[in-house]
Amino acid sequence: MDGGLLGALADLVLPRTCAGCGVPGAMLCRRCGALLAVPHLATPRRFPEGLPPTVAAGVYAGPVRPALIAFKERGRSELAAPLGTALALAVAAVVSALPGGVAGTVRLVPVPSSAAALRTRGRDHVRELTARAVAELRALGMAADEARLLRRRGRLRDSAGLSAAQRRANLAGTFVADPAPGRRPGEGVFVLVDDVVTSGATLTEAAGALVATGPDDGPPVLAAVVAATPRAAPRYGTGRPVGRLS
Ligand SMILES: [Zn+2]
Repeated sequence: MDGGLLGALADLVLPRTCAGCGVPGAMLCRRCGALLAVPHLATPRRFPEGLPPTVAAGVYAGPVRPALIAFKERGRSELAAPLGTALALAVAAVVSALPGGVAGTVRLVPVPSSAAALRTRGRDHVRELTARAVAELRALGMAADEARLLRRRGRLRDSAGLSAAQRRANLAGTFVADPAPGRRPGEGVFVLVDDVVTSGATLTEAAGALVATGPDDGPPVLAAVVAATPRAAPRYGTGRPVGRLS
């Protein structure tokens, strides 16, 4: 079967409306896609101690919200392409802000979803984003790979509707690092990747578990996400530009 026929079939079965604003023609229109090309440092209101420097490609508001929900909860897995590209942009931005740049591989560490969430969705959407982002970064000539160094332990209450403090308690001890291969000195940089950052509690917890896999002077741990909630960014559509991390 040639690509043209496959494309024609895909047009029949896939929704060809923008997942952000609903205009027909593309899975994510140019205008909505542009909202995911504004990398900025995520700054949650109550900045959790231990939150790694985190860059978001866009703000989790307006059309970005339905687009991410369509991908995550409504089975529109084809959105892994534009959303993974956005994640790659956030990774490149947070890595480029490292003083002295990066020597070695940029290792993307997906934040693991809960077993219950994986069962409900029937897929691992963060790993789909990670795979796409790794491919994009490699296409740009960056040495990048996926490093599945974290897993969740035990049961986790659904964090919806919990306060920031409750979320932190809910997440205490959530992640376990698989020590091998861990963070070895001179190994480049580790970037935790997730779809959305809200309070920063999940990334803080994940970073703590990841940092524990290596020595204090081991490779830095950063984070990148597709979008940050408006509370985590100064204003919709804008944000503090990425400067030097210190
Ligand atoms: Zn749109």
